[in-house]
Amino acid sequence: MSIRQYQICSNCIMDTSDSTLTFDERGWCDYCRNFHENILPNWHPGEQGIQEIMPMIEKIKREGAGRPHDCLIGISGGLDSSYVAYVAKEKFGLRPLMFHCDAGWNSDLGVSNIQKIIEGLNLDLVTEVINWEEMKDLQRAFFLSQVPFVDMPQDLALFSAIYNFAAKNGFKYVITGGNNSTECVRECIEWTYFSTDMRHVHDIHRRFGTRSLDTFPTCDIFKYKFYYRWIKGIRVIKLLDSVPYIKKQAIQELNEKFGWQPYPQKHYESRFTRFYESYWTPKKFGYDKRRAYMSSEILTGQMTRDEALERISKPELDEETMAQEFEYVATKLGWTVDEFREIFNGKNKSFRDYKHKLFLITLGARIANFLGIDNRIFR
Ligand SMILES: [Zn+2]
Repeated sequence: MSIRQYQICSNCIMDTSDSTLTFDERGWCDYCRNFHENILPNWHPGEQGIQEIMPMIEKIKREGAGRPHDCLIGISGGLDSSYVAYVAKEKFGLRPLMFHCDAGWNSDLGVSNIQKIIEGLNLDLVTEVINWEEMKDLQRAFFLSQVPFVDMPQDLALFSAIYNFAAKNGFKYVITGGNNSTECVRECIEWTYFSTDMRHVHDIHRRFGTRSLDTFPTCDIFKYKFYYRWIKGIRVIKLLDSVPYIKKQAIQELNEKFGWQPYPQKHYESRFTRFYESYWTPKKFGYDKRRAYMSSEILTGQMTRDEALERISKPELDEETMAQEFEYVATKLGWTVDEFREIFNGKNKSFRDYKHKLFLITLGARIANFLGIDNRIFR
């Protein structure tokens, strides 16, 4: 790899730690250009968005009449999924069944926030608990493979569990907390490769795993995009893009209504994700995912670039907490601190060092971009 001169976007805080990022003459990065050219013109949170989504809401209600629930919503305890549950039930009058996947890493705060939302909104909840031995084996395999995206097993489980459940139980509508407001900057695949590329998952597990994955929920990207979408007819609705969704206000609203408590950073409802994002990838690979989160907030006017620069200059967790978490994760995965340290110090690899089907996925994404199904940048 050639060494590239450091550069940071003059509009957001994405920088050359995303090695393929390009900048225009203003010093703006791909994400900023994409936001203004493709996302913003098609995004109408508020009156217009609500009017546009209403026919779909009516359809969901009509088709769900006579059933105990008319849609399915996954809840992690994080802000996006908690807020979308609230919006769906209270603002649109939907009758969701809530679905939670417990991959073994829920933080105490995450569990308590789920409870508050479920009880506060009087919702029904189904929880799928992943077999811990299988989860552990797949997570160990990903650490041993030295790829950056070691959160892939958890991501895969969470994603697959809900869509498999929807398909099995005849749910046609899955409402997600996915949104432009906090996620319009989607990290590049070098940082976060597709968790649903099963060719990749199988290759890493075959090389580094030690037991078979008999019950672990999986769902290949093509099964999801074609079979579930077109044969099973499952529609995914990003409801938060139709309403005003400002992080600070959403936190305040959930706090006042349900006693919901905020996290210091996105995805911190999982103790593993917190460790992976605040320790493993920034320290081992130089990828700080807060750059993407905060850049999204800069683009959507929820944070200034100066605030983001100030925050990114310091690690999210103090040294003592990081050391504790390092030990916690090592022990939980069956390693001593020294063994885990050795893996940490091992040679970094990329997803490209293992089998994958990026070519096909890229082709699919280009078609989706072309058809206007997904206008986020794919790179
Ligand atoms: Zn930018």
